[in-house]
Amino acid sequence: MALDTDMPFPDIERRFADMHTASRTSPPWTKAERTALLRKLQAVIASTRGEFAAAISADFGTRAHEETLLAEVVPSLTLIEHTVKKLGSWMAPERRPTALTFWFGRNRIHYQPKGVVLIISPWNYPLQLAVIPLAAAIAAGNRVILKPSELTPRTSALLKQHLELGLGADVVTVATGGADIAAGLSALPFDHILFTGSTAVGAKVMAAAAPNLTPVTLELGGKSPTIVHEAADLEQAAGRIARGKLMNAGQTCIAPDYALVPRARTKDFVAAYTSAAATFYPRVIDNPQYSSIVSERHFERLAGLLREARNHGARADIVDPARELPSMEATSSNTRKIAPVVLTDVTEAMGIMQEEIFGPILPVLPYDTLDEAIAYVNARPRPLALYYFDTDRARIEHVLQNTTSGGATINDTMLHIAQEDLPFGGIGPSGMGAYHGREGFLTFSHAKATFYQGRLTLTDLVRPPYGARFQAIMKGALSRTAAGRGSRGLS
Ligand code: NAD
Repeated sequence: MALDTDMPFPDIERRFADMHTASRTSPPWTKAERTALLRKLQAVIASTRGEFAAAISADFGTRAHEETLLAEVVPSLTLIEHTVKKLGSWMAPERRPTALTFWFGRNRIHYQPKGVVLIISPWNYPLQLAVIPLAAAIAAGNRVILKPSELTPRTSALLKQHLELGLGADVVTVATGGADIAAGLSALPFDHILFTGSTAVGAKVMAAAAPNLTPVTLELGGKSPTIVHEAADLEQAAGRIARGKLMNAGQTCIAPDYALVPRARTKDFVAAYTSAAATFYPRVIDNPQYSSIVSERHFERLAGLLREARNHGARADIVDPARELPSMEATSSNTRKIAPVVLTDVTEAMGIMQEEIFGPILPVLPYDTLDEAIAYVNARPRPLALYYFDTDRARIEHVLQNTTSGGATINDTMLHIAQEDLPFGGIGPSGMGAYHGREGFLTFSHAKATFYQGRLTLTDLVRPPYGARFQAIMKGALSRTAAGRGSRGLS
């Protein structure tokens, strides 16, 4: 493959060219080879998990080691385990029925590696959002260039060190660096790109991939709503919403962004939510289990959204049980921490209702009827996740059928992402395509449709010169369709 020597990263481009050549000249990895690579990946993550927890915490300022274990290490290891167990059945050629006309032929789908794939990952869960797509790509037999986020540099350096050493740089090369590197990489003719990050950058990746016709999987963000029905157990719902919202201080793509609560119950909901938050985090500033906001820029954005909302009349209930902050203050700039906040009396004009919050601030919006809450969600961009709390099965199905989101969890938050057999992905502005489990394998595989002609076949009878025999066969073929029944060939 010809190299463009003007590229800002010649080493990576050379590695891409080598991987490209290897993917076209060597046989696809066997199940045993893929399994061995997945086991190596598992061993690397298991043996370096403490190092990763420390690096992620240092990158954030504060990030609970427990959250790294819960939300990065365990999901990565269990999804790899699931993949190893299922790999044989996923890789096997799949039988499909053959229409009568094509008897005695056979149909099969062969799953083949796409070749060389690019994975671009964000900072918020920098280990699992790199490792889980990587595992899926390897399971499908691909070589990978991984570009982790520049906002978590210690973690990205560890990924480079351990993945290249553990799996071989010919299997996975980690390209560290900034957005310029990511943009340059996404313009290379990869066989697939999986991008996780913001909707705005996702659109740039898709545009960069277009001239090469490189297929893209986009795992994006957005405002994921939570609807609480009046029949729900309010305290339980508020506690589960708080647990989901405040993990990683709200810096989670599927965190509940805002809550729609029956008007008569909003006060009780705010009280239950703040009380649950105070139980989870008896201290917020001096608490190693409560995350900092990842960067100065992200901290200032959140502080600005909060300030603007309060200046325009929103009421803020701040959770600061140990009184570590001055009265009415929610932010601590030297630790980059923001206390859990509930906002009421918000308006649509406020920035907090216009962009993905990605922080520990929960706007609570009152609604009068369930259909009004559904209409509110449907009038906005399709979200990555939706949460609904209710006890009535028929109403739950009604909400699921009448809203469209990437995924959903009923009577809890975020847990659909933890299901190893469910696909994970968005829709429209929250993403396209999916991975996790079998869908991860399929995303990085080409499904090659193959027809094997039989020794005996009717199709040899369909040939020029077209005469009476041809007309009879066509009549038979048409008669198998509702619209063609009773017709006579062309007439
Ligand atoms: P981001 O879009 O700013 O950056 C993500 C990655 O894209 C980084 O590695 C960055 O270097 C790279 N990048 C930057 N400019 C680029 C360009 N022009 N071309 C190619 N790549 C480029 O996102 P972020 O701030 O790191 O992450 C937060 C966002 O990600 C939120 O919107 C969140 O909802 C979303 N997210 C989605 C998921 C999901 O699974 N759907 C998971 C986590 C985060």
